[in-house]
Amino acid sequence: NQQIILKNRPKAKPSEKDFEIQEIEEEKDGKLSLKTKYISVDPYLRGRMRDEESYIEPFKIGKPIDSMLVSEVMASDLPDFSKGDHVVGMLAWKKQQAHTGNNLRKIDKNLAPLSAYLGILGLTGLTAYLALEKIGKLQEGETLLVSGAAGAVGSVVGQIGKIKGCRVVGIAGSDEKIEHIQEKFGFDTGINYKTTENMQQAISEKCPDGVDVYFDNVGGEILDATLQNINKDARIINCGAISIYNSTETPTGPRPEGILIKKSALMQGFLVRDHVDDYQKAISQLAEWLKSGKLKYDETIVEGFEKTPKAFIDLFDGKNMGKMLVKV
Ligand code: NDP
Repeated sequence: NQQIILKNRPKAKPSEKDFEIQEIEEEKDGKLSLKTKYISVDPYLRGRMRDEESYIEPFKIGKPIDSMLVSEVMASDLPDFSKGDHVVGMLAWKKQQAHTGNNLRKIDKNLAPLSAYLGILGLTGLTAYLALEKIGKLQEGETLLVSGAAGAVGSVVGQIGKIKGCRVVGIAGSDEKIEHIQEKFGFDTGINYKTTENMQQAISEKCPDGVDVYFDNVGGEILDATLQNINKDARIINCGAISIYNSTETPTGPRPEGILIKKSALMQGFLVRDHVDDYQKAISQLAEWLKSGKLKYDETIVEGFEKTPKAFIDLFDGKNMGKMLVKV
């Protein structure tokens, strides 16, 4: 058996030296014995590597990282779980682990591939759908701009925008990604932020009617540039801020208050975990769209438990298309 622990708190961008793979005994002291099948690596885990109070507990040095995993039940003393079942839940980065069964959800691999429960039918899909429902409130004909557009959340956001009849513009880090989101996901157009010198101007050109809803996955300068292009009553969803997750100082920039007042705009932070009561309804809608072919998704699946830290780090270099996962 093996586990991956946090060895040091990363200073800026995480490196593989911040993690350690350790050999451990098979765990036998729980009601369930679980074998890991897929590990979700997510940008927000970076925040948990800092020793700071947040909406979720920081990781402890020397202890295994945890994230959303899909595991197979190898043995069970619980009536609700049988050998061969698959479950999803917050679990440790271990190849095998014992568990109480609390807060695990059984999933059906006949309804969707196991990996989908960590992406489109998991927190990714829920984040895209619920943030748009709660804050975005898309109206037909509006312009939706989304950053991180070729990523797990962003690619779902864009497709929901198209389902709702919006003009959808995506921002991502390569020409290949921009082409891909148009061809596969139906985005109207896109901007490669890595090769664009003046983002404010590029957004104004690609969104000639202005931006009604901005789904922000990255924060920083792209957010600053977008705010200069918002319409009256615009809604700005602060879902993620990956461009500043590795910052060593609190970044500053243009101040948003003037523009928000002038445009009567709403800018609101979103945390998917605040909306647990809405998960079931949202999953049903996502599953229906998936079944009817209205929603598609990408996965970047890295094979091998030991590659988990690298897969996580690669998120900050945009190596993924869609959901980044590790297959164990
Ligand atoms: P992604 O699949 O989008 O992966 C991260 C992507 O971010 C990369 O592929 C990369 O694409 C892009 N990126 C990396 N560094 C930068 C940078 N400096 N500037 C701009 N883009 C960058 O991850 P997720 O879909 O899982 O998450 C997207 C965002 O949503 C994250 O910020 C995450 O923290 C947040 N989130 C928030 C939730 C909530 O409840 N609030 C829940 C889930 C996710 P590229 O090639 O385009 O640079």
